[in-house]
Amino acid sequence: MSAAILDGVRTAREMRAEVAEQVRSMKEQGHQPTLVVILAGDNPASQIYVRSKIRACAELGIVSEEILPPASVTTEELLEIVQRLNQRDDVDGILVQLPLPAQVDAQAVLLAVSPDKDVDGFHPVSVGRLVTRRHGLTPCTPTGVMELLKRYGVPIAGREAVVIGRSDIVGKPMAMLLLHENATVTIAHSRTRDLAGVCRRAEILVAAIGQAGMVGHDFIRPGAVVIDVGMNRLRTRDEVERFYPGDARRLEEFERRGSTLIGDVDPRAAMELASAFTPVPGGVGPLTIAQLMANTVIAAKARRGWRR
Ligand code: NDP
Repeated sequence: MSAAILDGVRTAREMRAEVAEQVRSMKEQGHQPTLVVILAGDNPASQIYVRSKIRACAELGIVSEEILPPASVTTEELLEIVQRLNQRDDVDGILVQLPLPAQVDAQAVLLAVSPDKDVDGFHPVSVGRLVTRRHGLTPCTPTGVMELLKRYGVPIAGREAVVIGRSDIVGKPMAMLLLHENATVTIAHSRTRDLAGVCRRAEILVAAIGQAGMVGHDFIRPGAVVIDVGMNRLRTRDEVERFYPGDARRLEEFERRGSTLIGDVDPRAAMELASAFTPVPGGVGPLTIAQLMANTVIAAKARRGWRR
């Protein structure tokens, strides 16, 4: 069997086109959604992420603003910035790019963001709304995964779903969203006994671990839909040859950049056993920013009491 590819690039493109359309119609009604990103310090990976978020805003007609406090910023200074943004009526979404500099109390800063502008869905009030199935903003990566499953017509109700990973950002909200769609959900983690055996029960398997290619043949039930959230790098030629045998493009990329991207799932196992899976790159990755844009529009509409 050879698995079908769940194309995150295409799905993200569709989602973005829909967001752009909603932004256009909001503009006609007199409001252009606005997202403010706070990027403290000079973490190069964060700078890349923020750049792509700002670019996406520009493409979709969302107004964006960057606030760039220095690496030496204090918790109090950041709290003041967040409070100011909470009070600004034109601002619909506030995103605090993580990680924050070590001296900053990140929890305090995230807690200060108004839940109505919490486009990352990390605030405890947003988490509570998710758990209790109230309208609210939900974390972008797992929400994007749900969009992908829905758009590909993957049945969820009544199915066995296993989520590997229990982070607040991916694993837990992913499990909750699947539960709300009536899957029977198991959350697995580093202390799970017989992890492979637990995963083999899954008709929908979501890997959000952070371990290169860990989910191998013995984890995948034949015919399962496999969602690979992981983003890891292979840094030796041996590993690249092992995971991508005969893949000249991968080897070339490795030679050129010194590394190549891989998810948490061994792509050979997914290709052989799954009925469908998300490749890395081009699977879950693009959905996260698309959903961030969607969340900004949801926040903008909700704050004005408009229909979703
Ligand atoms: P965290 O490190 O916060 O969580 C990882 C989870 O995996 C933990 O719950 C941990 O268990 C579990 N875990 C780690 N090792 C094992 C193991 N050997 N066996 C079983 N479980 C294990 O990571 P995140 O949730 O933030 O991210 C997960 C992955 O997803 C990363 O690769 C990250 O880069 C990627 N990611 C991708 C995004 C995208 O847009 N595509 C967005 C966000 C994340 P325990 O709790 O017991 O320690």
